[in-house]
Amino acid sequence: MPDGDGLLQGAQARVVGGAGGLADVTDQGGQEGARRARPGARGADRGVLVITTEAPCEVIDVHHHVAEIEGLVGARNTGTRAADPVDARIAYLDAHGIAGAIISPSSVGVHSTTAPRLNDQAAAYRDLAPDRFLAALGTVDPLDVDAALTEIDRAVTELDVRGFTWHHHFQGTVINDPRMEPLFARLQEHRVPAFVHILAESFLEEPWRLQVLADKFPELDIVALDGFSSGPQAGQMPELARRCPNITFDTGVCISVAHGLDRFIDAVGPERLVFGSDFYSAPRMFALPFPLYELLNLGLDTDTLTKVLGGNIRTLLRLGSYEPAVPADVG
Ligand SMILES: [Zn+2]
Repeated sequence: MPDGDGLLQGAQARVVGGAGGLADVTDQGGQEGARRARPGARGADRGVLVITTEAPCEVIDVHHHVAEIEGLVGARNTGTRAADPVDARIAYLDAHGIAGAIISPSSVGVHSTTAPRLNDQAAAYRDLAPDRFLAALGTVDPLDVDAALTEIDRAVTELDVRGFTWHHHFQGTVINDPRMEPLFARLQEHRVPAFVHILAESFLEEPWRLQVLADKFPELDIVALDGFSSGPQAGQMPELARRCPNITFDTGVCISVAHGLDRFIDAVGPERLVFGSDFYSAPRMFALPFPLYELLNLGLDTDTLTKVLGGNIRTLLRLGSYEPAVPADVG
């Protein structure tokens, strides 16, 4: 990189943490240094932006689908089509310092006839690396209540799934379809939470629809997925959280501006947010789990990060407390 006065264009960014430790990155954009001279959230020397990439606590990613969604998101196929690449998923976790992931089945193609197989797949995938895939969720078809209730019972007792997930946009009904009510009631009996997508711009998944269900089942833990997926919707999340104390929110599909994660935490506390990146088997939709690095650089204290990045989901899914690996005795 350029060295010495007059050669350095723009500003330097010192990246702290990560596999590479410290790295100097020079902005070659040709803009004046002042454009990047503003200190980062944690503060920095004038002209140097300090980016934190290493969490001070355990990190669990709550939003990992074992599924392909090619064609639905306009992402290009990167060729990872064979069986779900367990090694690639673990490499992704390792690259970003993520200790574990919660495995969800596909959101697409869920019918009463396919749900048992999808749930079997999610549980089998969890068992391929149980030290990294800390739990599996199941799914059921809300359009066939009898089959769904049978499958909820089976998946909890035989597969040890720790919750159930729905993506109504792909399941042909609205979140607050009355047929969801007996399913939520059964989850409440089993004391396992519901993970419900509220992706922005989906008529079927508008956040108020989840509020209707959450009001009817105040004892059921609910995790709202993708709530911060547009600016206007992100702005609604603190109010939804205040209204529904049984809803926790993940960071899947979090937009890069106006997400208001720090405002959300200020409004309702760090117990109501969990980190999720919305990782799919294929195609690859992102290189960096943006919300992880955003959370690490918002200036949040360690107690808050410990809850948001791992502690809250351990409590919700009854995963037990975090026990850091004991360093090897180096004598
Ligand atoms: Zn999802």
